[in-house]
Amino acid sequence: MDIEKKVRQTLSKIGLNKNERILVALSGGKDSTVTAYLLKKFDYNIEGFHINLRMGDYSEKCLLAVKRLCKLLEINLHIYDIKKEMGSSMCYLRSAIQSKKSLKNCAICGVIKKWIMNKEVRRLKADKIATGHNLDDEAQTFLMNIFKGSPELSANSGAITRNISDSKFIPRIKPLFYILENDVREYSRDEKLPVVYEKCPCAIDSYRIQVRKFVDGLSSKEKMNIIENMDKMLGKIEKKETKINYCEVCGEPSRNEVCKKCELLKVK
Ligand code: AMP
Ligand code: ZN
Repeated sequence: MDIEKKVRQTLSKIGLNKNERILVALSGGKDSTVTAYLLKKFDYNIEGFHINLRMGDYSEKCLLAVKRLCKLLEINLHIYDIKKEMGSSMCYLRSAIQSKKSLKNCAICGVIKKWIMNKEVRRLKADKIATGHNLDDEAQTFLMNIFKGSPELSANSGAITRNISDSKFIPRIKPLFYILENDVREYSRDEKLPVVYEKCPCAIDSYRIQVRKFVDGLSSKEKMNIIENMDKMLGKIEKKETKINYCEVCGEPSRNEVCKKCELLKVK
C-alpha cells in the first residue's frame, strides 16, 4: 500500500533505529493512531503517551480510544493527567490565561502540550517523540508562518526536528509528514482502528482554521508542492543551529529566557 511505502521511506530518511525507544504522542485522533499502528507494524520499539486534558466527554472518548489502541498493539501506555499534574483542566488553564491575554484556544493548548511532552518524555527516558502531524498540517503551519512574516519559525520543522541538539530537548519525528490527511483518514477506516473522528470542541476561531480552509481548497499536487518547496528552502538554512536556553522559571529548553508555557502561565 502506498501510505505504508511512503512512511517506510520517511523513516529511513530520518534514519530511525529499531533499538531507539520511541514514545508516540497519542491524542485518540486518526493521525497519531495511524502513526503508532505503522511504527508497530514496522517493528519499531514504541510506547504510547497520552495527555488527558480533562475536557469532559471529548477527553473521555479520546482516553478510551487510546487505551483500546495500546491494547490492540500490545504496547505500554503512559498517561499524564493534566488535572493531577498541573492542578486544572485545559479549559480552566485556558480561561485563566485568556482573562489576561487575547490568545486563541489552540495556540494556548499547543504550547502547553508541547511543554508537557518534552518534559515527560525526557523523564521517561525515551529517545524520541513521534507525533501524528500529516502533510496538510505541515503545509498549514508553513503557510501560517509565511503569512505572519516569520518563515524562519519553520526552520526546525521537518520529518525530524532540525538544527536543535540539546540534551534536554527530545527530538520529535513526524512519520506522516509526507502523507495527505485524506489518505490517513482512509487508511484508519480501512484498518478499522479505534479513532475519535470528531474534532476537539475547543478548536474554534483559530488562525489555523482559516488557513486550513485555504489549504483544503488546493489539489493534492499543490499541497505536495508546498512541502517539497519547504524542504528545499529549509535545506538551505539547515546549517544554522537554533540557540537553546533553559527557561529561568521551569528549566525547560526554550528559545527565550522564559519559555512560552511559563510566559503564558506567568508563574513567576
Ligand atoms: P494537535 O496539536 O491537536 O494538532 O496534535 C498534533 C499531534 O500532537 C497529534 O498528532 C498527536 O501526536 C499529539 N497530541 C495532540 N493531543 C495530544 C494529547 N492529548 N496527548 C498526547 N499527544 C497529543
Ligand atoms: Zn518555563
